[in-house]
Amino acid sequence: MDQTKKHKKIKKVKIWPSVLGLCLTCFIMPILFVMVLSFYLSGITGSRFVDGIHSAQRAIAEFELVTKETPENEEAVFNYISVLVPSLEGMYILDETGNISESFGTKDVELSSLKPVSRRDAFSDISTTGLVVYVDQSIADYITVDGDSFTINSNLMSELLGQIFSNEKFINNIGDQDLFSAEAYGIDFWFLKGEASNGLLAKYRFSFSYLDYFYIMGIFIVSGIFFVALMWFFVSTIIRKIYYKSRMYSILYRDNETNGKNTLFFHRKAWELMKGSGKKRQYAAVNIRCEKFRSLRSCYGVLWAGQLSTAIYDSLRKSITSKEVVCYMGDGDFGLYLAYKDVPSLNLRIKKIMDSLSMVTPGQKLYYSAGVCASPGPKSDTEATLNNAANARSTITDATAGEIKWFSQKLHDEQVWERTVEAQMQGAMERREFEMYLQPKYTANGEELGGAEALVRWIHPTEGFIPPGRFIPIFEKNGFITALDDYMISEVARVQAKWLSEGRKLVPISVNVSRAHFMNEKLAEHIRDIVDSYGVPHEYVELELTESAFFDDKQTLIETVKKMQAFGFPVSMDDFGAGYSSLNSLKELPLDVIKLDADFFRGEESGGRGKVIVSETIDLAKQLGMHIVAEGIETREQVDFLKDQQCDLIQGYFFAKPMPVSEFEQRAYAAKNSEPVAENSEPVVENSEPVAENSEPANV
Ligand code: C2E
Ligand code: CA
Ligand code: CA
Repeated sequence: MDQTKKHKKIKKVKIWPSVLGLCLTCFIMPILFVMVLSFYLSGITGSRFVDGIHSAQRAIAEFELVTKETPENEEAVFNYISVLVPSLEGMYILDETGNISESFGTKDVELSSLKPVSRRDAFSDISTTGLVVYVDQSIADYITVDGDSFTINSNLMSELLGQIFSNEKFINNIGDQDLFSAEAYGIDFWFLKGEASNGLLAKYRFSFSYLDYFYIMGIFIVSGIFFVALMWFFVSTIIRKIYYKSRMYSILYRDNETNGKNTLFFHRKAWELMKGSGKKRQYAAVNIRCEKFRSLRSCYGVLWAGQLSTAIYDSLRKSITSKEVVCYMGDGDFGLYLAYKDVPSLNLRIKKIMDSLSMVTPGQKLYYSAGVCASPGPKSDTEATLNNAANARSTITDATAGEIKWFSQKLHDEQVWERTVEAQMQGAMERREFEMYLQPKYTANGEELGGAEALVRWIHPTEGFIPPGRFIPIFEKNGFITALDDYMISEVARVQAKWLSEGRKLVPISVNVSRAHFMNEKLAEHIRDIVDSYGVPHEYVELELTESAFFDDKQTLIETVKKMQAFGFPVSMDDFGAGYSSLNSLKELPLDVIKLDADFFRGEESGGRGKVIVSETIDLAKQLGMHIVAEGIETREQVDFLKDQQCDLIQGYFFAKPMPVSEFEQRAYAAKNSEPVAENSEPVVENSEPVAENSEPANV
């Protein structure tokens, strides 16, 4: 599973549902609990008082003996039932007509409609708050006493309570209150136990039964357990998730080599930083590379390289603020997201960072280069921005200069083009989109066709004509140039073979052989085989190489050139004078032709000093037995000068631009005698290809 997938997987583990669950548990559970309890309680009070006592059996247990006392006045002993209603703030005794005959409290209550009672008297020592209702029957009808047990006549009791609580007038008089459910919480029965003469008054109080306690306790315990279980579930889930996430993130975001943060963390943090920065701060992605890291690793070992990258990472981490981020990208590459005010100050900062990094390993001078890409703004793709910074850095050629390269749109376009070329080059070759153009070379003396150079053009189906400057450097970088060179050698051989078969007189056509090709020790044989497959005499295929080929394996180059010559191919040095060691290479390479670089004939010094150099070089070449071709010749004056200097061949817009083979054929073999046609003395001003190339307009 790759990093991003893992990241997504961890992200899927969400903590908020558990937090929400916990909050709901904390808020809703107590409410639910209270609701259930009050529902139950209202069930008890409501059902008990409205419907009376459910069953006589159960009612027995619901009574408890509260007091036992001996009345002072036997006559005062009577049967009554008092309903305990605290809000009545007093005790009311009803007379036979249902009116309050006596009250102990502050509130007068009109209870006229209550049922009249037959036996009644004042009961002065009642201190309980409540309503006293005299019953017209003996209390014994309501309750049967057997020792300390009682059996309630529940029907009668219900009837009585129903009467009390459904008495609208009574309720209204005491303030519109829903008495039974909200306030009545108990019923007292007062009656004489045994014989009245015993003088024993027992007061029994109705209260919740043990079953009610049991149920209430049950509700408490069950909901408590449920509550604790839910709390435990959510709390443990939250802890587990936090632990899992932090652990997974620390694994996922850790770079194993430096023990620091990796690119995944980097992009996440960078994204958050940018998102949070708004317009306050601007950010740039920076790619700092420790140059030659790989070769250091192979020299000093993986362990040493690991210590080096760790030391660099630690140093970088210390040089950033908490609003910035750094990561190790591997192979000596580090990524940073830095806040900055302006380009010069950021450049200065990066320079300082690189300077401090060069000291990171004592005794080992390290070089760094940096690429920078300004972040386009919040929510921009941090990965693309860092990539751009890395791309900008990759264009730095001098690794030791501590250079900083900023990414630009132009650079981006070039890179996009490079990718396009790379994606299409193979197909383009198969579809023969690469076309060989030929630029004629004329003799300086007679101004006759004396040769040609094969130059490639890409005729792209959508882009149209593409000059080699736009793709040859890319091919040189990616190695495809050798395939192109082979293709061009085949094209030269093919067209020469065709003309040969048509009985035309051939002129040598030179073809460029890239530096990369010289890595192949069997290059000479390889070219020979291609040319031989068309049966063309080798002398008509000239091979142009540049002195840059010298930078690689000099010995192989010399041997290859010698082999090429031994096979009969003329070998020329292209762009002679453009490099620094041209003369040196002349000493070691027994070349057949030198092509004077077009730069000799350009610029301010082309008139005076340039001419001296050209004439001396031609002289030198002559002495070494070489032929001379002058390139990039655009004026009659240049032609005349070269003629004076006895230059052999002239190639340039003055005579002709590179042209398609058909056009060259026309020009070379238009005369029926199949001889190459000498140009008339008038210079040919061709416009055989778009002027979009590196060329200035031909000068006549
Ligand atoms: P080069 O080999 O030095 O080719 C000469 C370049 O000078 C050609 O540019 C040509 O069109 C241009 N040129 C010739 N006369 C004049 C002139 O009077 N004035 C000016 N301004 N330019 C002139 P081109 O065709 O654009 O090629 C550029 C370079 O691309 C070539 O330089 C060569 O290095 C490379 N190249 C072209 N075709 C091939 C190829 O088939 N294989 C390889 N390996 N490289 C090629
Ligand atoms: Ca050339
Ligand atoms: Ca050249």
